[in-house]
Amino acid sequence: MTRRKLIAGNWKMNGLNAALAEITAIGAGVAALGAKAPDVLICPPFTLISAAAKGSVAIGAQDCHVGTSGAHTGDISSVMLKDAGASSVIVGHSERRADHGEDDALVRAKAEAVLAAGLQAIVCVGETRAEREAGTAYEVVARQIAGSVPFATPGAIVIAYEPVWAIGTGLTPTNDDIAAMHGAIRRELAKSDAARAAVTPLLYGGSVKPGNAREILTLADVDGALVGGASLKAVDFMGIVGACG
Ligand code: PEP
Repeated sequence: MTRRKLIAGNWKMNGLNAALAEITAIGAGVAALGAKAPDVLICPPFTLISAAAKGSVAIGAQDCHVGTSGAHTGDISSVMLKDAGASSVIVGHSERRADHGEDDALVRAKAEAVLAAGLQAIVCVGETRAEREAGTAYEVVARQIAGSVPFATPGAIVIAYEPVWAIGTGLTPTNDDIAAMHGAIRRELAKSDAARAAVTPLLYGGSVKPGNAREILTLADVDGALVGGASLKAVDFMGIVGACG
């Protein structure tokens, strides 16, 4: 199994029905690229998943509950997301870890629920600025990998390395730092299963834009990008998708 490039967009808490036109435009842009197109995924808010999934672009969610159904007011299960047309679910995004106190054990349980529903789990890891400055970034990310990434069949798990300090800030690590962390993540995965490590896609996330996408996407062990702000407009997102070719 080879690792195809994947460009995933995380819309966060953005997007009303009118924004579905952006996903339609992304679908047209991807179709125009033909065989050169990478895999593309858009993760809109829950409210748009069902409508968005009627188009040609693969659709994901940004979170899910660990259970399948039950008395959990306001929560959404991976089974419901699959039913709505999602093919992937992001779990452990740093905004969930920070805003909702999600720890590695909960993120792992969510990832397991995603896999049990037959969907792909995109597990996010990444250090804070304080951890980077303290020199503990590798240690923190290794701990997150060990704690929040379940064992899964090839292709079912994607890991997104997103340094917290690079998300939405316009700041990015140096290319050398990105490549070094991605290499370290693959070596960490290889400790438990070398074959699994070799086929697990590793995305970089944090202020990826059309202007820096090509240099990041050609780095060793970078198999794609998880894109926040620049995924909201088709023209920006396609600038990143097109940088894969
Ligand atoms: C994200 O939130 O996953 C992200 C990478 O955001 P941005 O691209 O806006 O930094």
